[in-house]
Amino acid sequence: MPVSVRSLALVGDRKLALAEGPAPPSPATDEVQIKVRAVALNHLDLWGYRGMAFAKRKLPVVVGVEASGEIAAIGSQVADFKPGDPVVMYGALTCGVCKACREGRDNLCENVGGIMGFHLDGFARDLLNMPARLVIPVPKGVGLRDAACAPIGFATVQHMLFDNARLEPGETVLVHAGGSGIGTVAIKMAKVIGCTVITTVGDDAKAEKAKSLGADHVINYRTDRFEGAVRKLTGKKGVDVVFEHVGAETFNGSLLCLKRGGRLVTCGATSGPSTTINLMQLFQQQYRIIGSFGASMRNIRESLAKMAEGLLPVIDTDLPLAQYEQALARLESRQVFGKIVISL
Ligand SMILES: [Zn+2]
Repeated sequence: MPVSVRSLALVGDRKLALAEGPAPPSPATDEVQIKVRAVALNHLDLWGYRGMAFAKRKLPVVVGVEASGEIAAIGSQVADFKPGDPVVMYGALTCGVCKACREGRDNLCENVGGIMGFHLDGFARDLLNMPARLVIPVPKGVGLRDAACAPIGFATVQHMLFDNARLEPGETVLVHAGGSGIGTVAIKMAKVIGCTVITTVGDDAKAEKAKSLGADHVINYRTDRFEGAVRKLTGKKGVDVVFEHVGAETFNGSLLCLKRGGRLVTCGATSGPSTTINLMQLFQQQYRIIGSFGASMRNIRESLAKMAEGLLPVIDTDLPLAQYEQALARLESRQVFGKIVISL
């Protein structure tokens, strides 16, 4: 065990500090100690880095909301893990006992203690202790760099498309920002069950890459209005499902892309949080608009199972911990195709 361990903390808005400190104590009876191997970046990291006025939290806070690692030690009551096991970690400190937790709706926990890497210390550190109940084994054949993208990148999409939008084989889905971390996953997850996928990207190079992931139609939103293009592509019918996370810039256009009774599922608002919607259109067209945030432990297991079957994340870049800030800048610039991973 190392005598000192590294941790990367947010110490102020847009200010990170890499520090060395003592290793954590031995895990408590119901905890495991984890050697972190890979941290994957998400928009949540950018929100945290820029500072969010309404977010109550104490700085410094160790960053990193999504990660994988190996079990280094186990508490005396832990039976499900042994040292060396590859694992991923749930990213929120749920209570484990409320009705939502008992029913497996972990992301609706009534007494959630916060999100790791945002409100509470996160995963961008060499070694940490976690309650064993929030740790999920990685199946054989899945690498830790890929597995790092399961807790948020994959599980968020799994939850949105299947628990919330109830996407069925053969349906047509519009995936916004097909080059983003979750966009790339949504394209792959929808294609593998036999859906028709229309996606939007911001440049022609990304259009080619989105096609290579299996997207049937790619719209460059900088040169084409996506609402018009979707109407044309669907013979004026519209799509069954829209996968939204862009927000203000696209939300109304997204509603116009839906067929009657269509579902819009959203987990983000990167272009802005506010918009107005036409309520007449909402009820007459019988749209269903579904908000989605995070995922359940089950969604993470489902995601890892998909990885084991060969549905792997698109890795844009893999950088060392010392280049975390450059990685955030790359994410912020939108010059990304897929996920950015930090290897420890
Ligand atoms: Zn709970």
